[in-house]
Amino acid sequence: MTWHPWRRTFLTAGAAVVGFDPSTRTWVTDAAPSQGMVDLPPLKGRVVTDPASRGEAADDFGHLVHRTPGAVLEPGADSDIMLMMRYCRTHDLQVAARGQGHATFGQGQVTGGLIIDMTPLDAIEVREDTAVVEAGALWSSVARATLAHGLTPPVFTDYLELSVGGTLSVGGFGGQTHHHGSQADNVVELEIVTGDASLRRCSPQLRPDLFRAALAGRGQCGIITKATVRLVPAPETVRHYLLSYPSVAALTADQRRVVGDGRFAYVEGELGLPTDSADWSHRLEAVAFFDGTTPPDDARLLDGLGDQPGNRQIHDMSYFDFLNRLAKGVAHLKSTGEWYRPHPWWNMFLPASRTDAFVEAAIKDLTETEVGASGVILLYPFPRARLRLPLLRVPDEETVFLFTLLRTASYGAESPQDMVEANRSLYLRAQAVGGYQYPVGAIPTTPEEWRTHYGPAWAAFEAARERYDPDRILTPGQGVFPPERY
Ligand SMILES: Cc1cc2nc3c(=O)[nH]c(=O)nc-3n(C[C@H](O)[C@H](O)[C@H](O)COP(=O)(O)OP(=O)(O)OC[C@H]3O[C@@H](n4cnc5c(N)ncnc54)[C@H](O)[C@@H]3O)c2cc1C
Repeated sequence: MTWHPWRRTFLTAGAAVVGFDPSTRTWVTDAAPSQGMVDLPPLKGRVVTDPASRGEAADDFGHLVHRTPGAVLEPGADSDIMLMMRYCRTHDLQVAARGQGHATFGQGQVTGGLIIDMTPLDAIEVREDTAVVEAGALWSSVARATLAHGLTPPVFTDYLELSVGGTLSVGGFGGQTHHHGSQADNVVELEIVTGDASLRRCSPQLRPDLFRAALAGRGQCGIITKATVRLVPAPETVRHYLLSYPSVAALTADQRRVVGDGRFAYVEGELGLPTDSADWSHRLEAVAFFDGTTPPDDARLLDGLGDQPGNRQIHDMSYFDFLNRLAKGVAHLKSTGEWYRPHPWWNMFLPASRTDAFVEAAIKDLTETEVGASGVILLYPFPRARLRLPLLRVPDEETVFLFTLLRTASYGAESPQDMVEANRSLYLRAQAVGGYQYPVGAIPTTPEEWRTHYGPAWAAFEAARERYDPDRILTPGQGVFPPERY
């Protein structure tokens, strides 16, 4: 048994992987060397094939799809990723990065190929108004490191224990998006190992085609190794408001109002299933930043809002505690086991003009069984103009809503597979009203549908794929490009 420093666990020592045998298409260890084996390149890290590492890489937060890789690279440096990309390219092996494995439908898995565990690459360097961050770093670590300098990335996901590379590969949305766009919109420069095994820098000025294909690019052109992210001055304290509404329409009317005038720093919203004693709940969650001494002006912030004043909940907390607000709940879900159940998540962007009617119809007959004991329904808007990246596809309206059914298969009555099927039919209904999928959920989608999804962005995406991953070895679990080679 050896102590594994970044997984903070003991691993059974396996034999060291020394090569791959193309004739038998198997990875070879020093315990049983083979004649036809091609040696691995010299690495600073290591390649492992032990069942625990491969088993972990064959699973994700969804627990719905399982593809077992042949091996897992634990890189000691980004040069290891480049060397192994070249090796895999030569031997026609598929490759995908794994950040925290919080995808829900096998997006980061490969069968037989190589998973790159990004967790060892987690260095963070804070500069004047940017941070240079290795892609395996967690957003919680980025927050801590930057706050020590009085700075912060402008946008966070609700949950902080996601990797920088993982969220930049999909977008990364939160309540600050209505001011600052997605996390990917706040990247200044990237370093990427592309599928042709080159380590490249890119930015809006340098190789803009690669920059645009990597941000929200779902790992189709390269593995992001480092990102330079924009920082802004951090507030010390936040005032957190929970406001209640009698209906979806009343909630979204106020959400549109406060997002339109930008009075809050953060705006989200949540729908709560009916209970024995109460009907559906509709809550707006908002935050105002302050320096800890001069409190926000509640009268101004709440002026003209149509919420139920008797149900207002207002609390002050530190900025970090606010960012990290899910930590306690997650610890509880882990302690009960609920966290480890299947998660057939559904996430869509809806055009504002169709949101109320669509959401009302979608939740009308929804039961707790279909959402799960810890399921969450989020609903919040942002101006489309804040999203500037071509691969972040959202409806063509001034305001768009993120609507999510974050399902947990808590009860035996509704199988995870039934939930996936329900996701698919709700997806088709959302598409019919102009909705676009946020590709982090569990919605079966064909390559033809992805092509339609990307619309005018498809030609440039396909050209970048052709140029930077000519052998099409990267990230097949996303199912974006047709798998004809495999
Ligand atoms: C509890 C929870 C809360 C969440 N909250 C939010 C939220 O508030 N807002 C939001 O926008 N999203 C949210 N998400 C979705 C989340 O942003 C995505 O699922 C994200 O991709 C997960 O990051 P990860 O590090 O676990 O990536 P993984 O699941 O490991 O990877 C996701 C995909 O990205 C690829 N990838 C990973 N790293 C790299 C890299 N360095 N280079 C290229 N490709 C890479 C993988 O191959 C895979 O295809 C949440 C997910 C969970 C489970």
